[in-house]
Amino acid sequence: MTGRAWGVIAMLALAIVTGTSIWLRCEGVPPEIRAPDQIVIGRAGLEINVGAKDPRSGIKELEVRLRHAGGDAAVFHQSYPGSLPTGAITKPGVPDVVAKLDPKALGLTEGEAFLIIEATDWSWAALFSGNTSVLEVPVRIDLKAPRVSVDTGLTYVKRAGSASVVYRVTEEAPRDGVLVGEAFFKGHPLPGDTDGRRIAIFAIPRDAPANVPIRVVAEDAAGNRGTGSWATRLQERGFNEDTIPLGQGFLTGKVPELADALGLDASDPVAVFQHINREVRAANEAEIRRIVARGTSELAFEGRFLQMRGSKVTSRFAEHRSYIVDGKKVSEAIHYGYDLASTAGAGIEAANAGRVLFADALGIYGNCVILDHGLGVTSLYGHLSRIDVGPGDQVTRGQTLGTSGATGLAGGDHLHFAILVGDTYVDPKEWWDAKWVREHIEARLEPRP
Ligand SMILES: [Zn+2]
Repeated sequence: MTGRAWGVIAMLALAIVTGTSIWLRCEGVPPEIRAPDQIVIGRAGLEINVGAKDPRSGIKELEVRLRHAGGDAAVFHQSYPGSLPTGAITKPGVPDVVAKLDPKALGLTEGEAFLIIEATDWSWAALFSGNTSVLEVPVRIDLKAPRVSVDTGLTYVKRAGSASVVYRVTEEAPRDGVLVGEAFFKGHPLPGDTDGRRIAIFAIPRDAPANVPIRVVAEDAAGNRGTGSWATRLQERGFNEDTIPLGQGFLTGKVPELADALGLDASDPVAVFQHINREVRAANEAEIRRIVARGTSELAFEGRFLQMRGSKVTSRFAEHRSYIVDGKKVSEAIHYGYDLASTAGAGIEAANAGRVLFADALGIYGNCVILDHGLGVTSLYGHLSRIDVGPGDQVTRGQTLGTSGATGLAGGDHLHFAILVGDTYVDPKEWWDAKWVREHIEARLEPRP
């Protein structure tokens, strides 16, 4: 071939390469935008993630604005480096943008709005200005907190004891109830009330700080929180210390049996006991919280709760226990229930009417029944030798649930009886007392005009 022919081929090849790259760089596919489907902004504002990607040319520019009744507020604007021949340096997308939607900083006014997200790529399309995508996300701006008003008067509550409060909330609040420090107690519709009032049964956790704040809270969908205070008096009390020697019989009999049931290596009984008393106990308590979370707003209990018939109290609520082996403390725990002993294999009765939430083996509690009495109140029966009820069963006050035993972490035949309000163990003594239940709970359950 002549030099001239080679020249023509080279020109043609160049034309093809140039044509192809022009064609590629002129692509007409707009960027993809990722953002929430809808947004609710409350007084505290929120952060959302916005992302954009463009597989062919990469992102050149990303802009986020909020169009509200007061105009357009700039939220975010960024240009990304690149060049016309090659497109964006970073492809296909840009790092996620965390857009802060702070109503005060943006000067937002209450009402409906749109978040407008605009992304442009590095394509040569539209006379080198690129392809642009626009996404409009509906936004609701709600800057008013629900208002809470408390109907209940002066309320006395003991440390590790229970109480109740009746209140109203001005708007629909997905989360309302009582906050005692960090502990939350869910509110429920006041049974039989046609006036929209709510009731929360709450408790003071055993180890709550002195003067722990107690208030009613209501949070709307935008996260705005209203609070209501009323007169409360926290009555302090102390708790017993107890030392429990772990005998050889327990360490070489009960502990290996439990280890076996839990699939643990039992070669060192003290180490196994320590593991069971700490890790297994913590896992069991977490499971109990998941179980009681399935409780309903339906009021089932009536009058006082029953204490096991003809039983002797062998351990009281909220004692601090130290476990001793050969004169040395090897472990400790708080005993969040009553131990009640009668004859071996004694009948165990439901302390009040309710629904069976759980009836199965539960680690240190052995064969265990948990009843839901409604309004966040549940009762627990541990160490049973036999269970006669199943999950979902409705039980009446005094109905037999099973027979006492020594299953789980128990040294002998007895019932471990506990009451929870929400996630918090409370002193059953109050709930066993007809006068206390009448004055502190039932008096508030009677709808008044
Ligand atoms: Zn116990």
